[in-house]
Amino acid sequence: MMMMQQPTRRAFVTAAATAAPISAAASGKLAALGGTPVRREPWPSWPVQGAPEEEGILKVLKSGHWGRTTGRRVEAFEQAYAQLMGARYCIATANGTSALIAAMNAVDIGPGDEVLLPPYTFVATMNVILLQRALPVFVDSDLETCQMDPRKVEALATPATRALMPVHLGGSAADLDALLPLARRRNWPLIEDACQAHLAEWRGKKVGSLGDAGCFSFQASKNLNSGEGGALITSNEEIADRAFAFHSNGRSRKAAQAGFSYVSNGANLRLTEFQAELLLAQMTRLEDQSKLRDRNAAYLTRKLSDIPGIRPARMYPGCTRNAWHLYMFRYDSQAFSGASRRAFLKALSAEGIACSGGYTPLNKEPFIEKVLSSRHYRKVLGDTRLKQWREKNECPVNDRLCQEAVWFVQTMLLGSQADMDQIVEAIAKIRENSQDLRKLDA
Ligand SMILES: *Cc1c(COP(=O)(O)O)cnc(C)c1O
Repeated sequence: MMMMQQPTRRAFVTAAATAAPISAAASGKLAALGGTPVRREPWPSWPVQGAPEEEGILKVLKSGHWGRTTGRRVEAFEQAYAQLMGARYCIATANGTSALIAAMNAVDIGPGDEVLLPPYTFVATMNVILLQRALPVFVDSDLETCQMDPRKVEALATPATRALMPVHLGGSAADLDALLPLARRRNWPLIEDACQAHLAEWRGKKVGSLGDAGCFSFQASKNLNSGEGGALITSNEEIADRAFAFHSNGRSRKAAQAGFSYVSNGANLRLTEFQAELLLAQMTRLEDQSKLRDRNAAYLTRKLSDIPGIRPARMYPGCTRNAWHLYMFRYDSQAFSGASRRAFLKALSAEGIACSGGYTPLNKEPFIEKVLSSRHYRKVLGDTRLKQWREKNECPVNDRLCQEAVWFVQTMLLGSQADMDQIVEAIAKIRENSQDLRKLDA
């Protein structure tokens, strides 16, 4: 297996000592092989809720105004979220996918248009492009940061390219210093998929507010949560008008109550008043939770960097705040006696540390081929363009990232420092027992 080492860190870790085992379980036999697990307690539960959520929901319930056509709570949320994000406009939507759909329509992405996106993302980023019968063009990943590699964008540009859609994956930021000027020069709208990046910042400004539009998700797993929910933010009035109209069956933003008067086509992607109240209540917790995640993640990175073969995802220098929706690192099997990532994940889970291997390569999803060879796509794009797309749909760095990545979810970062110590302890234990770890590959 090809292993390009980073000389600086390599030199550093050889010198650094692995964290000393602090418990009996840490020095013993791997839990996956019958030993005592480092941890038995559950991880912090999610969502966190209490009186503000309860009161908000009850207020809406009793008011009888359950939707935004008669209620005012969605509007109140939009104002609060726009202000928090430093954007002029916010349009709340049914979910993050809807926010992205509204964005696609607001910047007029249509059949045959090409949209640049990273392959290391949730499927929705691609699906919203396919819904427009447009062509997703995958920009390979930066192995160190897990984000879209800005150096790979230019080579993929064609006269049909109509938008650039970076994702702030895991709550860390894509390299906006490189991507924003590039989009401006080419006259491409830049849509930020910030669905995982609530409160993340690029040079002190909230991500989502720097491109032409930014999209957020409030789905149950996200750092800001109303079960389902989403928002599009922008400071561009035309985009705000178009996105609003699209999300409300073509009704204009300025006359939202105008019954049967329309300015465009659209769909119904509206958020309910209940969700708006939940979000307003959850927002009172967001800053403290984010600070706690940040503190724990920084601690974890410090400790994990001392373990050979564990490489925490790097942040771009411009990323002045990480939302830590995911804690991501890469696993180097060579430093673990050649044991596979699958064995490592199994061992780590058995130690009581919840983990996963994250995404599989999105650009290789078999259903893409089904979509592209459909009657509609062949009519719009023709076989020559589809052939060209297939030829350039290669993301070798991302393929490697998908094989090496290990994820922890955001809720784990809401634990204590002692919880973080257990994560480190478990990984150090697995490394000490890496000869045994290979048995899990048998
Ligand atoms: C969650 C997510 C979405 C979709 O949001 P939903 O609210 O689930 O529709 C889109 N992109 C990314 C990167 C996400 O993580």
